[in-house]
Amino acid sequence: MEQLPGTLAERLEAVRQGVRDAAASASRSEAEVKTIVVTKFQPASLVAELHSLGVRDVGENRHQEAQEKAHELRDLDLLWHFVGQLQSKKARQVRAYTHAVHSVDRLSLVDALDAFDEPLDCFVQLNLTDDPARGGVASAGLEALVEHVLEARGLRLLGVMAVAPLGEEPRSAFARLRAASERVRRLDPAAWAISAGMSHDYPAAIAEGATHLRIGTAITGNRPQAG
Ligand SMILES: *Cc1c(COP(=O)(O)O)cnc(C)c1O
Repeated sequence: MEQLPGTLAERLEAVRQGVRDAAASASRSEAEVKTIVVTKFQPASLVAELHSLGVRDVGENRHQEAQEKAHELRDLDLLWHFVGQLQSKKARQVRAYTHAVHSVDRLSLVDALDAFDEPLDCFVQLNLTDDPARGGVASAGLEALVEHVLEARGLRLLGVMAVAPLGEEPRSAFARLRAASERVRRLDPAAWAISAGMSHDYPAAIAEGATHLRIGTAITGNRPQAG
């Protein structure tokens, strides 16, 4: 894998500039677009360095790793976003340190995440491929899942999330996500957020209305382990 150039601060600034440029081309305000830095496989020290550079929203995709880092960095005002596939039996533990779960993809996970606490922010993840092994609910199941989240007192639905499939133009994939977002807004006008856009496709996601970008390697550099 090629090594990304520059320091962490330089890569962060380059992505911030890329977000400003993409928002300007889409005639959107950059204030509508939040960047979550995905720090999976990266050490807690790198997350602390990101915090010193002004980052507050960070994303992780594995519970144990996320829990350890959130504990180690508990004195920093970080917001942890869970973006990976989540086992129902880990749901309660994830709730304890997480600000938002982006990967709600089935009815049983809604039940497992629901609690009598402060509502937890969440997104329903849509599968944009035809492969059921990929994360996310199939398009046909979207409304039923959304309605179940809306019934859960312990969850607050922000909107939809997806990963662009390999081998498809990201812009057309994100256009399908935007159409799904409109279906969700018919059920709950407040659930208008769209979590989409990674290192290689975030300009296309911004063009299709993304409000939450999940960017890893373009900022952190290559991950220490494959994953
Ligand atoms: C790893 C990951 C990202 C970030 O991917 P990069 O290509 O490193 O930007 C975003 N979303 C999810 C769900 C991920 O697992």
